[in-house]
Formats: sequence, structure tokens, C-alpha cells
Amino acid sequence: MTRSIESLPPSCDLAIVGGGITGAGIFTEALRTGARVLLVEQADFASGTSAWSSKLVHGGLRYLKEGQWRLTLESVRERQRLLQDAPGLVEAQPFLMPVYRGARPGRGVLRAGLAVYDLMAGRLASRWVPRDELLRMEPGLRRENLLGAMAYEDARTDDTRLVLRQIFDGVAAGGIALNYTRAELRHEGGRVRGLRLRDVESGDVRDIDAGMVINAAGCWAAGLPGAPAGAPALRPLRGSHFVFPAARLPIGRAVSWLHPRDRRPVFAYPWEGAVLFGTTDLDHDGTLEWPGMSHAESAYLIEALQAQFPSLGLRARDALSVYAGVRPVVAAGEGDPSAASRESALWSGPGLVGVTGGKLTTFRVTARQVLAEAAKQQPRLRPAQEAPVFSAPAGGGSRRLQGRLGAAAVAHIAREFPREAMQAIAGTPFTWAELRWALRQERVRHLGDLLLRRTRLGLLLPRGAEAELERIGMLCRQELGWDAARWQAERAGWIDLWQLRHAPR
Ligand SMILES: Cc1cc2nc3c(=O)[nH]c(=O)nc-3n(C[C@H](O)[C@H](O)[C@H](O)COP(=O)(O)OP(=O)(O)OC[C@H]3O[C@@H](n4cnc5c(N)ncnc54)[C@H](O)[C@@H]3O)c2cc1C
Repeated sequence: MTRSIESLPPSCDLAIVGGGITGAGIFTEALRTGARVLLVEQADFASGTSAWSSKLVHGGLRYLKEGQWRLTLESVRERQRLLQDAPGLVEAQPFLMPVYRGARPGRGVLRAGLAVYDLMAGRLASRWVPRDELLRMEPGLRRENLLGAMAYEDARTDDTRLVLRQIFDGVAAGGIALNYTRAELRHEGGRVRGLRLRDVESGDVRDIDAGMVINAAGCWAAGLPGAPAGAPALRPLRGSHFVFPAARLPIGRAVSWLHPRDRRPVFAYPWEGAVLFGTTDLDHDGTLEWPGMSHAESAYLIEALQAQFPSLGLRARDALSVYAGVRPVVAAGEGDPSAASRESALWSGPGLVGVTGGKLTTFRVTARQVLAEAAKQQPRLRPAQEAPVFSAPAGGGSRRLQGRLGAAAVAHIAREFPREAMQAIAGTPFTWAELRWALRQERVRHLGDLLLRRTRLGLLLPRGAEAELERIGMLCRQELGWDAARWQAERAGWIDLWQLRHAPR
């Protein structure tokens, strides 16, 4: 299995720059055409925007309100498809939208909007929940003037796993994917001919020829070294989230409401044994590598939480962690950030197709559009017949593990470390077996790769999983051969990173 640039073949049919959801989706679809496909990611897989989304696979009621019918319909269809294709990884998420006397939009408008949403999905999922029933379901809600709630359904996922599962399934199917490998475009005779690759850690450099190159570098797309003009201007918009312990924000369903200050929708929902709460939407002017939640965003979010759950007395310091991500939104003026379209944008030149913008939810549609565009120059890249994103789960293992890791991993875990498979890590849904599997098979280079992306322990446990680090260190030494000095450096680097980006503020 190719794991470094020295062992790469000299050429491929398709080279993809960017290991987020967009690149991973293209990887999956391109491999189905029978092409020889290479994907390269400058940092860890899924470490860009795709790790920091709201983790909803959703139609987007907000887009409906803004009249973005096509995007909503496409997203609802993809949601339904992923619920079917990825059990255990994409799961249905019940939502409640509390309605208060005199508040806008009222019950009638919400009902009509949700009826359209249901119609798009071809099933009836929304209903009115009267006040008493609602308060039995979610006793922490603000009660004054509460009439009831509209209940409806969307879906949730683990965004990094949606990326990683596609990348590792693709590698098992014969694709090549390298993390920590930065690309720049190589040109010849007015055409993109391939990539110059640099291993960001060893500094080794290698040139690869490619029949076509895809620029799927998200927020970085316009700045890809060697990129010809043509990429649309982006408006990087930051969104931040809190992760609270479930005991501190005890809700059984997602709750969505409008921020009292500016009437933007915010929501909280149970996720991986904790509760996610977000999000903001504001112009991002810092570095793309290290977006962080500002104090102003923190105060804005806490204000919304206190308004909807006044009896809980929540403060920022009650949170387990925070995270921020930058949306690659295609620029269309300076209006309300939340009204900017989330549609993807495609552009092309000789030997190159570029793509940016879009949503996590619609990655499969985007991937097929990109390949159709690439096929105009290389007909063999025409997308294959539609097929499920993932192969059907095999027997054994939990639904969750089948969905997150795939059948081969589940069989390996059952065979090699059955005892650790039963051991949950500090009350989270993650087991010690998943950790060992990730270290052995999933190209972990740094402790952060393990704690933020292969698992989400770094967000779900207090102080970046500090209390578990000793045992994790032992596994890293066993599986990755790290010596004491390497472990100390990784540990210190992780704690610094957590303080900088993920400590509640
Ligand atoms: C706060 C927030 C909430 C969101 N919530 C949702 C949601 O709930 N549902 C939904 O559907 N969507 C959501 N989105 C949108 C979604 O997350 C993004 O559209 C999606 O993750 C973008 O994926 P991408 O692959 O295009 O970009 P990225 O994930 O950023 O991937 C691009 C990759 O390219 C790499 N790269 C850049 N330059 C190079 C180079 N020279 N060589 C090699 N690699 C390179 C980067 O390191 C990066 O990893 C949200 C976004 C944000 C920020």
C-alpha cells in the first residue's frame, strides 16, 4: 500500500488536491470509473473545514426560507440517500422548534415550510407538539408564552468520519491517498500536466503526471500554487460551536430557535454522548489554518442559550470544548453572511477542474458534477452509474462501528482485539479498540489526528482528554513505535493546540 511519495507510480489518470469531503467524494466516484486516482492532502485528512461543520446532513430549512429551492431539494434527497446508504454514520435526528405567543415566524408559517420539506423528502415527518407534551420531552425550555413546538426530522453525522470512511474505502479499492503532502500544479504547453508534491514533514519532493487534476482545496482553492486565474472569489465565513457535557445541557432531541439579538437560527443537539451547540456566521479575517472562536462569538452564543434554557444557568466555562471552522462560500457582495448561497462553484481550464463552496450534505452530487466536467476533456472520467456511497454493512459489530469504520475494520477488531472492543473510553461512545485500529491502520501522524479526527475524544472529554493521555500514550508507543521523547513532544503539542483552539472561552 502506497503511504509515501517515494513509492508513488509516475502517473495517474486523475489527481485530486484536497482531502476534505469534496476531495473524498470525488475520490469515491472517480474510483468507480476504473481510473487510477491519487488524492493528496497538505495536512491531515479532513483537517480543513470538513472537521468543523455542524455535522448535520440536512436539507436546510434556512435555505428554503431564502427561496433556494434547488439547493434544498437536492440536499433533502441526498439526506434520504445517505440515511439509507450509511447507517451508523448518518442517522436520523429529530428536531423541535419551540413556538412562543406573538413570535415570528408563527406556527402557520412554520407548518407550511415544514410541509414543503416533507414533500421534498416524500414522507410526512413534521407535526405540532402541544406545550404539555413538549415540556415533558424537554423540561429545560423557556416556558413563558410557550405554545408548543413544530417537530421535524433531519440527520446528523460525524463529518471527519464521513471523509475518512470514503478515503480508506477508496484506498482498499485501489486508490492512493496521502496526508501531509502539499501539492502545487505543474504546467506544460499551456495545460496542467500534473502535480509537484512535497512531503511536509520530510521535505521530499516528487513530480507526478496526471491526465486531469481536480482542485478541491476548499477555502485554499484560489491560492493553490500554480493555479491559473478562474477560481471564483471566496467570502470566508467563520462558524463556531460549543460542546457541552450532556448532564449540563440535558436535551433528548435537537432544539432549534432564533437568536434573541438578530433572529438568526441557532441549535443544540445530542452528539456522540455530549451536546453540540452553534453556530455563528461572520466574516473570517484570520489565518485559514487556525480559525478559533472569538470572545464575542462565545458571548453571542451563550446569550442565545441563556434565553432558551434560562433555568440551566449555562456559562462558557461549563463547556467541554469549542471549535471553529471557515465556510468556503462563493462571494456575492457584502450582505448578510447567513443569506450567502451555499451552492458549490465549478470552473475549468486545460487539464484542470476546480470546485469550491457547497455543503457537506451534497458531496456526492458535487463529485459527480466535477467528474462530468472533467470528462469533457478525459471521457474515461464520465461518472459511473449511481451506486450506494458505501458497501452494505456485513454482519457483526455494532451499527455505529459498521457505519464509522466499515465491515473490514469491524472484522479486524473482532479478530485482533475483542477485549478492548468492549471497553468504552471514559463514558464516551468510543472504545479502546477503535483507538488501536486507528493507530494501526489509519495513517495517524500526530496525536491531534487521533484525538480530533479518527476519534473526537479531544472535543468530548474534559481538557482535551487529559485524564486518558497516559493510556493513549502507551498505545501510541506500541502501535506507532514512538519513543518517550516523541511522546512527550506530541503530548505537549496537543495540549498547546487544545488550549489555543478548543479550550472554552
Ligand atoms: C461552521 C460550519 C458549519 C457547517 N455546517 C454544515 C452542516 O451542518 N451541514 C453541511 O452539509 N455543511 C456544513 N458546512 C459546510 C461544509 O462543512 C463545507 O462545505 C465542507 O466541509 C467543505 O469541504 P471541502 O472539502 O470543500 O473543504 P475542506 O474540508 O477545507 O478541504 C479542503 C482541503 O484542501 C487541503 N489543501 C489546501 N491546499 C492544499 C494543497 N496545496 N495541497 C494539498 N492539500 C491542500 C486543505 O488542507 C483542506 O483539508 C459547515 C461549514 C462550517 C464552517
